Amino acid sequence: MHPGRMRIGEAARRLGVAVHVLRHWDAEGVVVPDRTPAGHREYTEEHLHRMRVLRACQEVGLSLAEVRLVLHRDEASRASVIEHHLARIRRQRAHLDATETFLAHVVACEHDLLTRCPACSAYAVTSPAGPSRAT
Ligand SMILES: [Zn+2]
Repeated sequence: MHPGRMRIGEAARRLGVAVHVLRHWDAEGVVVPDRTPAGHREYTEEHLHRMRVLRACQEVGLSLAEVRLVLHRDEASRASVIEHHLARIRRQRAHLDATETFLAHVVACEHDLLTRCPACSAYAVTSPAGPSRAT
C-alpha cells in the first residue's frame, strides 16, 4: 500500500468510529474512498479530513444529506443549505442568550409573580416554548 493510504479498519480506528459507519458514508456518497484493484476501500489523509468535517457538521445538527451538500463544492444547493443552517444556529444562540439573561434576572427578581415583572414577561414572549403571539 502507498504511504499515507490506509484500509477502512485503520481509517475507522483513527477517527474513533465503527467500520460500518465508514461503509455507510461511502454508500450514501458522502465520503467515497478510492478502491484498490482488488476492490478494497482505500482512504487518504484527505478522506480522513473530510470525515472529521463530516462529524463536526453532524455534531451541530446537520443531516447526512446536508453534510453531503456542504462537502461537495459543486452542489448547486450548497450555499442555501449552509445559509439555512446558519440561520438555525443563530436562532438557537439568540434563544440561549435570552434564557441566560432571564435566569440571571430571576435570581434577583423582586416581583412575587413572574407575570408582574416586565423583564420576566418579556422572556415568555421571546421563548419558542412560550405562548404564541396573536396574529
Ligand atoms: Zn422578574
